[in-house]
Amino acid sequence: MLIVMDQAATQDEIAQVIAAVEKRGFTARPIAGGNRVAIGVLYNPGSVDPAPFAGLAGVKKVIPVTSPYKLVSREFHPESTRVRVGSVSIGEGSLTIIAGPCAIESEEQALTVARRVRQAGATLFRGGAYKPRSSPYSFQGLEEAGLRILERVRRETGLPIVTEAVDQEVYALVEEAADMVQIGARNMQNFSLLKRAGRSPKPVLLKRGQSATMEEWLMAAEYILERGNQQVVLCERGVRTFARHCRNTLDLSAVPFVQRESHLPILVDPSHATGMRYQVLPLSRAAVAAGAHGVMVEVHHAPEEALCDGAQSLRPEQFETLCGQLRQVYGTLHSETDGVDR
Ligand code: PEP
Ligand code: MN
Repeated sequence: MLIVMDQAATQDEIAQVIAAVEKRGFTARPIAGGNRVAIGVLYNPGSVDPAPFAGLAGVKKVIPVTSPYKLVSREFHPESTRVRVGSVSIGEGSLTIIAGPCAIESEEQALTVARRVRQAGATLFRGGAYKPRSSPYSFQGLEEAGLRILERVRRETGLPIVTEAVDQEVYALVEEAADMVQIGARNMQNFSLLKRAGRSPKPVLLKRGQSATMEEWLMAAEYILERGNQQVVLCERGVRTFARHCRNTLDLSAVPFVQRESHLPILVDPSHATGMRYQVLPLSRAAVAAGAHGVMVEVHHAPEEALCDGAQSLRPEQFETLCGQLRQVYGTLHSETDGVDR
């Protein structure tokens, strides 16, 4: 349930509504909107009778919330959220292009790719220092040494850094080094990791699980918001289907669905969705055309030598083409800004 206060409601009236909610054993969560305060009611086991709240001073209306996710829902928070990552904002009004290699392999590799993607127009740099690999024999990432390289990339290029925290053990190290912490598809329902992300001061990029429904994905985001971190960006990265022509199947219907249901920004990762370089450009265009707030793509200066995901990594010149085309698609749909506050 959501209790929407009058624009003119006083702090005292808001406090009285919160007290009335808590007296009944529920949790009240004030949510600041554009020009009014709303109070979300959480931890109610069933539906709540709106009558006692509707009559309180300063209350404009009481709205029952039907979705199982509350804090991520548009019912609770009608305005679209913009998530700030370093000098960049992700969400409505900006086109975000996150680019970089799958894994940080060396300082030279990371800086080479970072300089190229920065020049082409990337807004954030990605690269895994800790890699969740299907095989224990595959390259697992440079770990802490990789984080130090990422810090150097930020210093040299000014690009904010997105990198994955694969477990709770490394979360503190990753959140200290990164501007945004990625929770990968395989960890989307790692609830203790989600709770840890909820306590973090850093924004989170939450990828969709490999076979997650929309409800499971939004509930995963709810875990993070519920612990206090409101800075969550969702990222569609394809789901496992019967199809064999692609690594996964990119579910672009997730974009309008998430935008209808939730106020959180949504990006699309066509690299992991398809696993194939030639698919990345057309599906990136489609993602932006579908209304995504941006894309995350893998780029490598020598994909044949990549230690991870070379087949899906764009060459730098292909990434330049992608940036140009995405700006065109975005520009025809919106009046463009790049999210960088100047
Ligand atoms: C990644 O982005 O590095 C990654 C491993 O992606 P996903 O979790 O979507 O497979
Ligand atoms: Mn990868």
